[in-house]
Amino acid sequence: MTDTAADRLSTRGGKFDVVVIGGAAAGLSGALSLVRARRTVLVVDAGDPRNAPAAHVHNYLGREGATPGELYGVGRDEVQSYGGTVRTGRVQTVARDGGGGFMVQLEGGEQVYARRVLAASGVRDMLPAVPGIPERWGRSVLHCPYCHGWEVRDQAIGILATDMGIAMHQALLWRQWSTDVTLFLHTAGTPDDTQAEQLAARGIRTVAGEVAGVEGERAAVRLANGDLQDRDVLVVFSRLEARAGYLAGLGIVPADQYMGDVVYGTAVSADPAGTTSVPGVYAAGNLTAPSAQVMAAAAAGLMAGAAINGDLVAEDTARSVEALAAAGRGR
Ligand SMILES: Cc1cc2nc3c(=O)[nH]c(=O)nc-3n(C[C@H](O)[C@H](O)[C@H](O)COP(=O)(O)OP(=O)(O)OC[C@H]3O[C@@H](n4cnc5c(N)ncnc54)[C@H](O)[C@@H]3O)c2cc1C
Repeated sequence: MTDTAADRLSTRGGKFDVVVIGGAAAGLSGALSLVRARRTVLVVDAGDPRNAPAAHVHNYLGREGATPGELYGVGRDEVQSYGGTVRTGRVQTVARDGGGGFMVQLEGGEQVYARRVLAASGVRDMLPAVPGIPERWGRSVLHCPYCHGWEVRDQAIGILATDMGIAMHQALLWRQWSTDVTLFLHTAGTPDDTQAEQLAARGIRTVAGEVAGVEGERAAVRLANGDLQDRDVLVVFSRLEARAGYLAGLGIVPADQYMGDVVYGTAVSADPAGTTSVPGVYAAGNLTAPSAQVMAAAAAGLMAGAAINGDLVAEDTARSVEALAAAGRGR
């Protein structure tokens, strides 16, 4: 018999069919489908989902306007109600076990064994380096009109241009929610003739000059020349960085994601069922699709959960066939 790391597992650790890394929309949804498929599941969650700064979750059918805490709290309860384990913690590494599974190392040194891994650890928003932005992120500094547009409709909206193509996309989109949109050209150069015509046609003002900071109760924009432009909301482009460092030892490295010729983030490659380049490791949610919203992330987690169960069913069947054949030979 092979002496695998799982066999040597300390009594502090545990063995699970599936360890889910990340316990927000994608991870909890995957975990729910797996516990309902009678799999033993551990969810390890570091507790900082991407939308934590936002007051509410929008465009989530059935729970429209819930707070992120409420939505994920209900999700954790649902997973636990079917016998799943949800723990606060951070996964540091995932390594192959000698017997075909994986050893998952948590911060603090504890190790658990998993037959399969579902990585659902999301992305980190890398905000433009402008003072005043981080503390207003998710409140008056925003990125996504589908998440916040309705709440700030008809307000004074600024767009911070760090790339002209992306800024044009954002300006024209946000114009759907307000007629008062100003494009701060900042570090993005100047619009070309076509862009200038589109901005003019939609009544979008441009302001030249670098932005030095964001100030006040909402999102007043201080220019480097000292001018202060009163705005309720500032829309920014945040680069989305996959939170996948713990997968590096398995050779899973996030790849650049492009919008046109601009890199807007990184993501782990996976097919629609969450299958990655490493057999037994699945991924879902923003980690694989950085611009997916909460409902899409949850749907991807569900797809991956079903794929993992199918994979385990195939392995269980193969083992049963082997055991039956061995028993037949022994007779
Ligand atoms: C400000 C803001 C507001 C938003 N509002 C909306 C909205 O209203 N509606 C909407 O549909 N979408 C909204 N979004 C998008 C939404 O945040 C994402 O769609 C969603 O978070 C993706 O879910 P996920 O489960 O893939 O990732 P996340 O929600 O980011 O969850 C990943 C989880 O993994 C955990 N984690 C990370 N690394 C580790 C590790 N090593 N070990 C253990 N755990 C780890 C994190 O702590 C986190 O809990 C918003 C985004 C932002 C930035």
